[in-house]
Amino acid sequence: MSELRAAAEAIRAHDRFLLVTHENPDGDALGSILAMKLALDALGKDSVMFIGGEMAIPPDYEFMPLERLVRAVPEDAATRVVLALDSATAPRTRVPPEVLAAAPLVVDVDHHHDNTRYGTINLVVAESSSTGEIVRDLLRELGVPLTYEIAEAIYIAVVTDTGRFQYANTTPRAHELAIELMAQGVEPQEIFRKIYEAVPFSRAKLKGRALERARLYEDGRMIATYLLREDFLDLGVGEEYAEGVIDELRAVKGVELAMTVREPPVPDGPLRRVSMRSASDAFDVSAIARQRNGGGHKRAAGFSSDESVDEIIEFVRAEFADAAARA
Ligand code: AMP
Ligand code: MN
Ligand code: MN
Repeated sequence: MSELRAAAEAIRAHDRFLLVTHENPDGDALGSILAMKLALDALGKDSVMFIGGEMAIPPDYEFMPLERLVRAVPEDAATRVVLALDSATAPRTRVPPEVLAAAPLVVDVDHHHDNTRYGTINLVVAESSSTGEIVRDLLRELGVPLTYEIAEAIYIAVVTDTGRFQYANTTPRAHELAIELMAQGVEPQEIFRKIYEAVPFSRAKLKGRALERARLYEDGRMIATYLLREDFLDLGVGEEYAEGVIDELRAVKGVELAMTVREPPVPDGPLRRVSMRSASDAFDVSAIARQRNGGGHKRAAGFSSDESVDEIIEFVRAEFADAAARA
């Protein structure tokens, strides 16, 4: 049986679900979890959306109808089927291991190539632009019709994970899906305005600090910057406001590897979080991230560390220089 059918049958056969995604959620995480929640509502199933970690929902997604999202693991979590979306590993869901072990079933729905297949069923489709695209296929398999609300949630997943239909994962299928979602009433301009053109001023200022501090390494082939705890505290914003800084760095001419280091203002684990982006599949940043217990995609990956900002940048620079010398 295909994993898609197995996932659909598992959903049909059960009544109570815990929907989870990765901590520090992005548009794909939020769009996928919301689309799945609305679909389970339509099927008359009982489900709870949970997102772990301390980080607030990024301001870009404040307009999404996520009122029913909970940030603490529900007490009855271990009695629910866990449906994990867009999370490459079990720890990234922040669901306690004993809850995952006790759950009647874990269904892992994801598109990360390094997904550890931690589910009972693993619907992992690395060719998919986004987890939202896989959710769309799952809903078709389940016979759940696309409402406007579901279509909007899936569109948010796809438009954000493809960098507004511009990254390398922008496949013909991603565009075809956009056509299908537009047929349900999704208006790209309206969603673009809500996600990308409602930037809080404090966020623009934070980006300014990060860009001011950016430095080039390795003859301009690598770029790095950092945001400190006091930057977030001065501007009165959370770490989620740093999302998007790395996209400015990766756009700099000649850059093959971009990275940011952030100090969460309210630490909830390691002191620093690192994001990396690569300009080509030939240079796999997830391999660097895995050396520090992180992961991600070849072109977009991250890890956490207690090392100093300088030590972290030097570690990545040395890895980059090694890989460049081997290439
Ligand atoms: P970000 O830089 O936070 O946008 O993350 C880029 C990619 O790396 C995403 O696919 C994340 O799921 C993955 N990623 C980021 N941080 C971690 C981490 N600490 N462990 C595993 N994967 C990560
Ligand atoms: Mn994601
Ligand atoms: Mn994704």
